[in-house]
Amino acid sequence: MTEPIGLPRPPAVGDTALRPGTFDGTAVFVTGAGTGLGKAIASEFARLGADVVIASRKPEHLTAGAEAIEAIGARVLTVSCDIRDAESVAAAFDAAVDAFGLPGVLVNNAAANFPVPAEDMSPNAWRTVVDITLNGTFLCCREFGRRHLAAGTPGSIVNIGASYAWTGGPGFVHSAAAKAGVKNLTESLAVEWGPYGIQVNCLVPGLFPHEDMTDDIRGNLDRTHDKDACQPALRVGERQELGWAATFLASPYGRFISGHTLVVDGANWQRRSMTNPPVTTIRDQMGRPPFEP
Ligand code: NAP
Repeated sequence: MTEPIGLPRPPAVGDTALRPGTFDGTAVFVTGAGTGLGKAIASEFARLGADVVIASRKPEHLTAGAEAIEAIGARVLTVSCDIRDAESVAAAFDAAVDAFGLPGVLVNNAAANFPVPAEDMSPNAWRTVVDITLNGTFLCCREFGRRHLAAGTPGSIVNIGASYAWTGGPGFVHSAAAKAGVKNLTESLAVEWGPYGIQVNCLVPGLFPHEDMTDDIRGNLDRTHDKDACQPALRVGERQELGWAATFLASPYGRFISGHTLVVDGANWQRRSMTNPPVTTIRDQMGRPPFEP
């Protein structure tokens, strides 16, 4: 009998597929790179020679991100930035240009999210998540695109998406709708800016648990006790796997890939049962009492 073995584990953190120095002389601007997956992605660019710009709001996140990049031996600039605010984004790019020159790569990683039944969501919660995840991503793309168009230089954008962009995300209606917008704007911008030498792609992580996850997201994750067993790969993602995909998309070897959404999730989003499991409402999954208007 053949036992399920799952997908093989990747090489360890520190290994690289691209040649050393692939990003020498290139500044890479990563939003939300002081935590979790943004930090992991920024680290892989740093390992390949990039100068890294970390843009986010909280000083403790900026410090943690800088420490990770410095430990690799790369140059790093931290800038306090709220991506919802166009002036704050412009000021962050000004600082990046002063430090390293115009970034050649933008990774729109920052996002906001928490599980909530749609009927319990406040208008402010909806607006906040859409403002950070969708509007903030557009504002950063816009700043990057305008500067490259003005300079006549090529560039590469990697937007971080999520697979519920096309499946819907029960319990995450705000984030799922915003990520659908991120996938869609990737496709529009790739066409609009291709003639100016700007690649625009989207990278979708599957389940990548990490120590910086917010309590809300961790609490949701804790509802699945054996996370590996619930993935077709029989394992969750290791963060360097996402970093490798991001560096490939933005590298000279991915130049003809644009408008694409690359999913790194061990086929989890395609998963379906042969027989329908019973439906459990989002309220029940979250242990919430019946809805009270
Ligand atoms: P995370 O640890 O919660 O990181 C989010 C980052 O965004 C934080 O560093 C935060 O920094 C920054 N941020 C939030 N609002 C901001 C704002 N207004 N301006 C600037 N920065 C802001 O999330 P993660 O798990 O690493 O996820 C990273 C990306 O992957 C997100 O786009 C997420 O949707 C996507 N994703 C993750 C998973 C997963 O399994 N982890 C799965 C699918 C998709 P500050 O608080 O310092 O601003």
